[in-house]
Amino acid sequence: MMQASKTVFKCVRKVHFSAGHRVLGHESRCASPHGHNYYAHISAEALDLDSLGRVVDFSVIKEKVGGWVDEFWDHSFLVYEKDVHLINALLMVPAPKKPFVCPFNPTAENMARYLLETVSPKVLAGLGVAVTKVVIHETDNCYAEASLCRS
Ligand SMILES: [Zn+2]
Repeated sequence: MMQASKTVFKCVRKVHFSAGHRVLGHESRCASPHGHNYYAHISAEALDLDSLGRVVDFSVIKEKVGGWVDEFWDHSFLVYEKDVHLINALLMVPAPKKPFVCPFNPTAENMARYLLETVSPKVLAGLGVAVTKVVIHETDNCYAEASLCRS
């Protein structure tokens, strides 16, 4: 017998930020400090819509997840906590924002995972909405995604 299909709704909010990074241990030029105009696509899913017919208002994702990104990643430098030389160099530069010291090597994949698993559940707690996928675009041609497994 065929299983009945179920509708799932998804809404996606795009968030832009500019940041520096380098990939510690990279085999080539990404080992050099450089920056990107990143786009994060934040996806929230629901089985039911709210009384107005939404998963969640787009502005909630922008304010909560986008607000966190603005505060900690935009116009900042993402540096891996094991990248001691770069951390020391960055701390010597007077700047309005401190570098964001990551518990991960700041690849697009790890950044997507951090927004999905750590940031989104924290900033959206109690709002009845769950982020299920984050896509990080580093360039027009390159992106990585992290998503929650349904099983
Ligand atoms: Zn890069």
